[in-house]
Amino acid sequence: METTGSLASSNSETVGSLEVEAVKRKSDDVGWDYGELTIPNNYDKIKCKLCHKSFSGGIYHLKQHISGLRGNVKPCLKSTPLDKTKCLQALEG
Ligand SMILES: [Zn+2]
Repeated sequence: METTGSLASSNSETVGSLEVEAVKRKSDDVGWDYGELTIPNNYDKIKCKLCHKSFSGGIYHLKQHISGLRGNVKPCLKSTPLDKTKCLQALEG
């Protein structure tokens, strides 16, 4: 996907959409299958779609919540073993 160099002058519009794609890819996190923002544009406040519990700490804590890891958040009571595996893999990756 990287266009290194040469046609830079005619390329400025493309660069813009590439940035948008990068942002999309970041929010393509598997955690977003299970959580949603409680406050628009505040990525720290997340609500679990499965048990509707909300907490701060962002998508990282949500994945800990879903996967049942002890620590910063309480484990989700509604997540299935498959959900847990997916979030664990996302945390490790
Ligand atoms: Zn939950």
